Amino acid sequence: MNEPPVCARCEEEYSLDFGLDPTRYCHECAHAKVYELEEELNQWKTWGIVEIAVRNPNVASYMQEWEDRTTKAEAEVERLKNDLEKTEALLHIANEERTKLRGNLAMAEYALGLKQKIKEKNV
Ligand SMILES: [Zn+2]
Repeated sequence: MNEPPVCARCEEEYSLDFGLDPTRYCHECAHAKVYELEEELNQWKTWGIVEIAVRNPNVASYMQEWEDRTTKAEAEVERLKNDLEKTEALLHIANEERTKLRGNLAMAEYALGLKQKIKEKNV
């Protein structure tokens, strides 16, 4: 003997006259459920990523992964900036040293030229 279906929402017995899912809702509750689902669908269409992430653990996990990657990338950028500053400071020192050495070389070449001229006069 078949028991009449009981609505999953209002728990009233209902008939199958309307051709709705006989295992879930009565006619009134089915309409209410459709309305609720349409409202929820409209919300999903307009929610931003945060509202979706709050309701969907997969999206939240995906966002966390990208946040972790961003944090890691920002740390790497900071490290590279520090390395660049150190390299620029060393380059500045090297340029000063090069300028000093070029001056020394010019003086040495000049002195060598003078020595050569003196040698030629004495010969
Ligand atoms: Zn119902």
